[in-house]
Amino acid sequence: MAAIEPATKPGFSLELTDDQRDLRAWVHGFAESVVRPAAHEWDEREETPWPIIQEAAKIGLYSYEGLASFFADESGLTIPIVNEELFWGDAGIGLAILGTALPVAAIFGQGTGEQIGEWIPRCFGTADEPKVAAFCASEPDAGSDVSAIRTTARFDEKTNEWVLNGQKAWATNGGIADVHVVIASVDRELGARGHAAFVISKEETKGIEQGAKVRKHGLRASHTADVHLDDCRIPAEQVLGGKEKLDERLARVREGKRARSQAALQTFEATRPTVGAQALGIARAAYEYALDYAKERTQFGRPIIDNQAIAFTLADMKTEIDAARLLVWRASWMGRTGKSFENAEGSMSKLKAGEVAVWATERAIQILGGNGYTREFPVERFHRDAKIYTIFEGTSEIQRLVISRAISGMHIR
Ligand SMILES: Cc1cc2nc3c(=O)[nH]c(=O)nc-3n(C[C@H](O)[C@H](O)[C@H](O)COP(=O)(O)OP(=O)(O)OC[C@H]3O[C@@H](n4cnc5c(N)ncnc54)[C@H](O)[C@@H]3O)c2cc1C
Repeated sequence: MAAIEPATKPGFSLELTDDQRDLRAWVHGFAESVVRPAAHEWDEREETPWPIIQEAAKIGLYSYEGLASFFADESGLTIPIVNEELFWGDAGIGLAILGTALPVAAIFGQGTGEQIGEWIPRCFGTADEPKVAAFCASEPDAGSDVSAIRTTARFDEKTNEWVLNGQKAWATNGGIADVHVVIASVDRELGARGHAAFVISKEETKGIEQGAKVRKHGLRASHTADVHLDDCRIPAEQVLGGKEKLDERLARVREGKRARSQAALQTFEATRPTVGAQALGIARAAYEYALDYAKERTQFGRPIIDNQAIAFTLADMKTEIDAARLLVWRASWMGRTGKSFENAEGSMSKLKAGEVAVWATERAIQILGGNGYTREFPVERFHRDAKIYTIFEGTSEIQRLVISRAISGMHIR
């Protein structure tokens, strides 16, 4: 047997650095002292919690610089840590604060250097007057099937402008944001390969309006609405990546040179663990609440945790949450260090974390019994909030589709 070579690189470690631990404690402090106490009120009001967004902006948690510093961590773990802690406080308020990260990721991933410099700071506004941003891909007839997008972007050579028409559905921050990133079809015949992303300032542009606001099961502090584009005219340079690059890409696709966008797939894989981390925050909140409750609540003359049925459920909840976190951290690390997602590890992390969040929050209701089913206790809200994580940013079925295609190399349907 060959002798084992001494390690030449630092050994494998899952220990967080002092900086990561400090940051986690800072976000947790905000989540515990500001977000959690306000969660019930904003869930009932079903309104955007602007005062809390303002507080997050004042301390730098919600800012361009804040997000850039989280992203700077080369291990990739800071972004999921921040998301887990904030969403532990409350997912509705968490999304009201960090929903802007999705359009920011699109601008960062697809924009030119100039576009990144101009538009990303605008997504956040200022500490005194924070703003939010929206990402508009989904439509009434294009949810899981993004290739069915009907919103069109036509180039008007005479005015050197894009003209957008269509209806977007389900947009987080849709209509209340200034910056809207809108996915539209430039060439319907090319399906998803004929799409492009456009950046639109609602304040400066005519023809972009909020449609109906959606009343939801959970995440009720996060605004969700339709967005209507009616002859919405924007300057030529507001297509992400630039018009020249878009024209070149479309020409290549028309010549049949590029079958699918690997870059877009890799971007999705890199952003999915962040969404998984949000689900983890909710699952952990429910687990911790149920653990404390099970130690306090007595029936038959002893704490209910004294029964294996309850204790083992809590043991399973903790195990599943920790397992999901490892998948989330692995995928975040892969994304940040440029590893190739050959087995769709980003999708795996989002699938697992979303399913665990739904299961664990449902178990928490069971452990609280009748109290768990009332609005006097937070676990029913945790459960309502968790459910979205098997639906948005790709449903659980779509994650399984992506994973099964990646592991088989076949076009599973
Ligand atoms: C609160 C909320 C916020 C959202 N925020 C945004 C946002 O900011 N921006 C945005 O663009 N969108 C957003 N969405 C939209 C979200 O991404 C879509 O709801 C999601 O992609 C699913 O699309 P759909 O609702 O049309 O469901 P459908 O695509 O109609 O799916 C219905 C069911 O069919 C299943 N299904 C579909 N196709 C297949 C298949 N091939 N194989 C197996 N099963 C399949 C699905 O998994 C699902 O169970 C949001 C949605 C919600 C509810």
